[in-house]
Amino acid sequence: MTDCVFCKIVARQIPSTVVFEDESTLAFMDTGSVNPGHVLVACKAHVDNVFGLDERQAAAMFQTVARVARAINRAFSPQGVSIYQANGVAAGQTVFHAHIHVVPRHEGDGMDLVWPAKHPPRAALEQAAARIRSAL
Ligand SMILES: [Zn+2]
Repeated sequence: MTDCVFCKIVARQIPSTVVFEDESTLAFMDTGSVNPGHVLVACKAHVDNVFGLDERQAAAMFQTVARVARAINRAFSPQGVSIYQANGVAAGQTVFHAHIHVVPRHEGDGMDLVWPAKHPPRAALEQAAARIRSAL
């Protein structure tokens, strides 16, 4: 896609600091890093988000994420590693090319995800599960 910043990074039309690539994915340093070692794993093909990934691309993305997360863990010895992926504006997606953040974490690093657990009743969980199963 001509106007997509990640397509331009994949095509090397915009410079990036690459840490890994294979046939389907490119892993590069996030210029807006939260902590040193923050990497983005992008699908090489333009796909807006997880909804457009085929099975092979989805598998390749998480294979690269796991590989990069292990490398970050060895290289930076963080207290933890967060893996973050957003789909759609309401979910916080800002670049509409499928990508996954791999972020080394440290207590007090300022990164936060508010998780307002609502603890719905079991019947509501069963109802939601039935809707998902029928859509698989
Ligand atoms: Zn793109």
